[in-house]
Amino acid sequence: MLVMKFGGSSVADEKQIHKVFEIVKGRIPRQPVIVSSAHKGVTDALLKAGKAAAKGEPDAAPVVEIQRRVLKGCGCDHDLLDPFFREIEDLLRGISLVREASRRSLDYLASFGERMSVRVIADYFSRTGIKAEAFDAWDLGFITDENFGSARPLHGFEQRMQTEYKRRVGSDVVPVITGFVGKTSSGEIATVGRNGSDFSATCFAAGLDAEECEIWTDTDGVMTADPSLVKDARSIPAMSFAEASELAYYGGRVLHPSTLLPAIKKKIPVRVLNTNRPEHPGTVITEEGGENPNIVTSIAYKESQAVLTIESPQMLGQPGFLAKIFDVLGREKIDIDMITTSEISVSMTCPGASNLNEAVKAMEHLGRVSVVTDKTIVCVVGKNVKKQQGLGAKVFVALRDADVNVEMISQGANKINLSFLIDDSDIEKTIPALHAALFTG
Ligand code: ASP
Ligand code: MG
Repeated sequence: MLVMKFGGSSVADEKQIHKVFEIVKGRIPRQPVIVSSAHKGVTDALLKAGKAAAKGEPDAAPVVEIQRRVLKGCGCDHDLLDPFFREIEDLLRGISLVREASRRSLDYLASFGERMSVRVIADYFSRTGIKAEAFDAWDLGFITDENFGSARPLHGFEQRMQTEYKRRVGSDVVPVITGFVGKTSSGEIATVGRNGSDFSATCFAAGLDAEECEIWTDTDGVMTADPSLVKDARSIPAMSFAEASELAYYGGRVLHPSTLLPAIKKKIPVRVLNTNRPEHPGTVITEEGGENPNIVTSIAYKESQAVLTIESPQMLGQPGFLAKIFDVLGREKIDIDMITTSEISVSMTCPGASNLNEAVKAMEHLGRVSVVTDKTIVCVVGKNVKKQQGLGAKVFVALRDADVNVEMISQGANKINLSFLIDDSDIEKTIPALHAALFTG
């Protein structure tokens, strides 16, 4: 069995969906199971409509318009999705009445993207020559916790998926399953978080013991750097789970950070491929990874971060000081990425959108607290990083020559990454300069 996930741009319109059809057709002997995102732009449009509705302006038209265009392009019956359109209109009206869009209602709203796209795709496939059937992930065992907006499947989901799959999916049918969405055990729709269809796909791959999980996107696999900034960025043929996890976590654009966890647990290879160039071998991610001739494997970055610094002479020789800080951060649910400490200060980065006011207040008795924003974490990843004598010198000379100021340098304990902080405004000179020094220089 082969799980194949197609992202929003891969199923954007009839032209793209036809490419998907051809790709799937070539893999029928491997028993494909499709997991799909919403058509490009639909999730954004749904969430935008939700926000407008919360302000008293319910309008389903922009969503319906994109969806109808794809529906028509694919030659589906014009009323195939009418029940969904009506439900979206009702929901938006409901949100506008209470003037409030909770996480839970936004998840319910966002779920329509995938629920509609899988029906269009299955319908198109069936009329074009592959017997296919659309499924909502929850009907195949994707039952989650109640963390709306970042839900995770409940313990034991693998068994549940196997049972439901056997019960509901005919052996002569290619199932097209919704990515991104699940249901809680009390029956409420919950999403796994933006761009989370990859994660849904690896969960199904793990649950169904797939031989491999393919992630079909619009780049030639995972690249050495963001191709929109680096013209000669190259595709990486093979990398390890550890390398790919670091990259995803530190802003690599291709994989969602949680994607690999279910695959790692069951050692299922994840292959990233390009729907627009299916003949390209892409990137295969496995336990062992591959041999890489370069000093590093890839460069990632994550912009719009904030830095929280606490300076306090109390830190000197006082056990438990950091525990107090982390206790506050845990309570305020602030997600920390990088940490550097000196004798009397500690600095931490977190997403710039975090609400830090409460945390700052709660820490003021510990020392002087400051927050700066508009920072970018740059992360150089590779399993060769630990073997490199002169890597730091190479990186920092390149940055000096590019006239970039660097703060907060840190090397992960697993020694496969080197990360540091720059100003958001320096991204465009930093990434190409580093790429030139580490890959082409
Ligand atoms: N449709 C969802 C989103 O746009 C999930 C995904 O694309 O993976 O975030
Ligand atoms: Mg997407």
